Amino acid sequence: MRGRISAATRVFALLGDPVDHSLSPGIQNAAFREAGVDGVYVALRCDAEDLAGLMRALARAGGGGNVTLPHKEEAAAVVDRPSDAVRRTGACNTFWGEEDEVRGDNTDVEGFRRALRAFLGEEPDGARVLLLGAGGAARATLVGLLDGGVEEVVLLNRTVERARVVARRIGGERAQVAESVEAVEGEPFDLVVNATRLGLSPDDPLPVDLELLGTVRAVIDLVYGEDGTRFARAARDRGIQAADGAEMLVRQGAVSFERWWGRRPPLDAMRSALDRRAPAR
Ligand code: NAP
Repeated sequence: MRGRISAATRVFALLGDPVDHSLSPGIQNAAFREAGVDGVYVALRCDAEDLAGLMRALARAGGGGNVTLPHKEEAAAVVDRPSDAVRRTGACNTFWGEEDEVRGDNTDVEGFRRALRAFLGEEPDGARVLLLGAGGAARATLVGLLDGGVEEVVLLNRTVERARVVARRIGGERAQVAESVEAVEGEPFDLVVNATRLGLSPDDPLPVDLELLGTVRAVIDLVYGEDGTRFARAARDRGIQAADGAEMLVRQGAVSFERWWGRRPPLDAMRSALDRRAPAR
């Protein structure tokens, strides 16, 4: 927490339910301190009916914030000027006030893109990708992959119909849906992305058995943990380059910081704050 809170301090809040285990206050307050900007970041548990009022009030007061589960879709409907990422994913995770309007972005899209580029050392141009999941994170990932120039994304999700809807709405001709895991048996992929919730609990099964697939070059797990994740470790055990979701978490927060302050975010301070605060797994 800053020691110099004054009448000029800009207030940012994470809005969601629950928010008490969120790492964002630690990451953002460390970034604000390091950058020397006059802001403070708090977490506020909120119900759907309070979301619009809180977003508008914070934005009009010169601040803003983030929105997390379960309100990201609702937040997209509140913003006056949604970014392209908000329009395409139907979700907003970052908002702020500008010229009397509530502006909104979905920084999971750009955060994923930057984390992926850092991980691969290049854009995923021409890659064939297996994307596990069809929720909010998968939608943001799909937009990021398409913008990064991938050739094809195969969506595999427990609820197949949900994957079909995501492929149809976002993916266009470059998105295919696998009806079951058997449909991808023996198939080679340049990249496998886990955007399901599997891995959040230590008892979860792996999101896919990598043995079943053909050659896989790289794996990104959007789930993150203090010592990485089981899925990322399983990939490395097979000699596959792998990362968990920590860098994406930092990068999406960094893009939020850019939207609020219009300046370069202190990435190292944000990474250190995450290292200190990562949940045990
Ligand atoms: P969500 O909208 O609730 O979607 C959850 C996804 O997980 C759905 O595809 C769901 O499949 C699948 N799933 C849940 N339980 C499952 C099970 N038992 N077996 C198979 N599939 C299961 O959640 P989300 O917002 O997309 O988040 C997904 C994950 O991404 C979370 O772990 C979150 O922490 C992570 N994430 C990380 C970052 C980052 O910065 N690193 C950013 C955003 C999200 P159904 O459709 O069949 O229910």
